[in-house]
Amino acid sequence: MNRYDCIVIGAGPAGISACIYLQRSKLKVLLIEKSTPGGRMLQASKIDNYAGLNDSGINIAAKMFEMLDLTKIDFVIETVTKVTKEKDIKVVTNQNEYVCSKLIIATGFVNKTLPNTNELDFVGRGISYCALCDAPLVKNKKILAYANSKKSLDEILYLSTLADKVYLITKDKTISKDNIEVLNDTTIKRFNGTFKLNSVTVIKDDKEIDLEVSMAFIYNGYIPGTNFVKDLNLTNSFGLIEIDGKYETKVKNIYAIGDVNNRNVKQVATAVGDGAYVSSIIIK
Ligand SMILES: Cc1cc2nc3c(=O)[nH]c(=O)nc-3n(C[C@H](O)[C@H](O)[C@H](O)COP(=O)(O)OP(=O)(O)OC[C@H]3O[C@@H](n4cnc5c(N)ncnc54)[C@H](O)[C@@H]3O)c2cc1C
Repeated sequence: MNRYDCIVIGAGPAGISACIYLQRSKLKVLLIEKSTPGGRMLQASKIDNYAGLNDSGINIAAKMFEMLDLTKIDFVIETVTKVTKEKDIKVVTNQNEYVCSKLIIATGFVNKTLPNTNELDFVGRGISYCALCDAPLVKNKKILAYANSKKSLDEILYLSTLADKVYLITKDKTISKDNIEVLNDTTIKRFNGTFKLNSVTVIKDDKEIDLEVSMAFIYNGYIPGTNFVKDLNLTNSFGLIEIDGKYETKVKNIYAIGDVNNRNVKQVATAVGDGAYVSSIIIK
């Protein structure tokens, strides 16, 4: 079993900030991230309220990640599926099991998946949640977009400036553009493809229709990324992890920082501050 002094889950601004401090200690540290480091900053076209930096979220994320010294901490791309606590804290991922004395949860918000579909099978293989990150991939292609809010429609309009054609599933009845085919009252049934996505089966007027597309952008809102701790009973009714004044949860030696905890302000600056505070306490 892989044993660490401290494990940090999530490489958004909170988790990266914690690791920037932890890597200066003698502690054996592991950072686990399920996807591209940077977290939800990657979706921000511009961040102009973080002191000292005024840039796109992608660029700020890259600058933060560059500050990690991966000779001093371990970093793996894995998805945490379960955390348990007996004598030690056990962290189970889709590939491994780890044990640690202290755990920092920095998993922010995650995308809410569509009900009763195989969406997760195609994440990174045609399904995207971030227009800004994946816009270059849609150039001259046919794509599908699912938008459950007005805000996400802006991102889809941006994609339509690059894509050949966009099938847009939305409740909105006002949107109109030459290369956007609006599908109201439509649900997604299945994503299809052998390895990469090549079509999406939708249901409209009780009929199944196969739409040939190479990418699908899903905007179904966010929920706190806390599914893997549900057995520990750490969360409030919104799914946010409850903490005390020192960011410790009701389970000793398990901390929650950044957007995932029940503090009110959810910003890059507060996430970075949480990371600095908790890691400093752990190092002492
Ligand atoms: C479009 C948009 C614009 C924004 N603009 C601004 C802005 O201008 N200024 C500002 O201050 N803030 C802005 N924000 C908010 C800001 O991005 C967040 O407050 C900040 O990213 C929170 O950081 P975090 O580290 O707590 O969580 P996140 O950034 O959400 O990072 C969490 C990380 O944990 C990973 N993770 C989740 N679950 C698991 C798991 N089970 N196993 C492994 N890894 C996991 C995720 O992949 C992710 O990388 C914006 C957000 C969005 C979406």
